[in-house]
Amino acid sequence: MKVLITDDSKAIRMLIAECANSLGHEVIHAEDGGQAINYISENDVDLVLMDVEMPGINGFETTLAIRAMDDIDWFPIIFLSTKTDDESFANGILAGGDAYLAKPLNPVRLQLTMTAMERIYNMRRKLQVAQKDLQVANKKLERLALYDQLTDLANRRNYDETMERQFNLAKRNKIPLSLVIGDIDFFKIYNDRYGHQQGDNCLASVAKVIGSIPKYPTDRACRYGGEEFAVILPETDLQGGLLIAEKLRLAVFNKNIAHEGSSVATCVTMSLGVATYTGQYHTPEEILKAADDALYRAKEYGRNRVESS
Ligand code: GH3
Ligand code: MG
Ligand code: MG
Ligand code: MG
Repeated sequence: MKVLITDDSKAIRMLIAECANSLGHEVIHAEDGGQAINYISENDVDLVLMDVEMPGINGFETTLAIRAMDDIDWFPIIFLSTKTDDESFANGILAGGDAYLAKPLNPVRLQLTMTAMERIYNMRRKLQVAQKDLQVANKKLERLALYDQLTDLANRRNYDETMERQFNLAKRNKIPLSLVIGDIDFFKIYNDRYGHQQGDNCLASVAKVIGSIPKYPTDRACRYGGEEFAVILPETDLQGGLLIAEKLRLAVFNKNIAHEGSSVATCVTMSLGVATYTGQYHTPEEILKAADDALYRAKEYGRNRVESS
């Protein structure tokens, strides 16, 4: 541990330092409360030994100030004092101290108390590590719950939540909301020809393109289903929705992923449908249905194209 010894007597500091060093601890000296506070505000310490009777602010006041500091991690504080009455002891514990030793110091008790404090300190460290691990695990779970693993795009659940929120916002604020639905053309044939593994690789490549097109922070590209994608475009009118959809279509086409079985091109293409809410739909499902109908028409009219509701 890194041990800060605060005592106005150099002789006592040396005695404590010897004890701490023999336990394998690193030692820093402070001659008064002010020095201790300054050091702690800029450096990490693991244990503090605190004389009570010091010129300037005393050990209790110093401890109160340390415990009131923001962004300072807890560490044990051991008081050292010639006053051993109950009231002094109580004042020390209430000020934020964790142990109280009588002066003149008994080196054996000093060492044992340091060992006891180290045990508490170690338990706290373990708890902190476990907390960090838990935070990391929670972040991972959150990501798994809301993002698709193959494509890294927002998943269906994410789509549902985002759409619900954005639809309500559009309704309340009377602003447009566009939805683009895209479906890969002849993807069943692609799988049959190249295999499912390659099919998955193709989906990941297409998803990367789709994720790179919408630029506004509230836009959300999603993997809606197997080889179907949805892009939610808040505060976007039909003209904007059509523009993004056409960009998506062209970007997928320009990726030029070979698709020999397709009867519309020699590469993978996508058909897209756009719907824009301007007050006419009552639920998120209705705007989805409208975009889906437009997509169906894009398929009917020859694929690799964009249609709107
Ligand atoms: P269309 O042009 O009419 O869309 O023809 P299509 O063959 O793409 O028809 P549809 O959209 O109905 O086909 C979906 C196919 O996509 C079914 C399945 O073979 C394939 N597919 C769906 N999800 C996945 C997936 O996660 N991985 C792979 N490799 N293939 C998938
Ligand atoms: Mg003193
Ligand atoms: Mg499909
Ligand atoms: Mg398809």
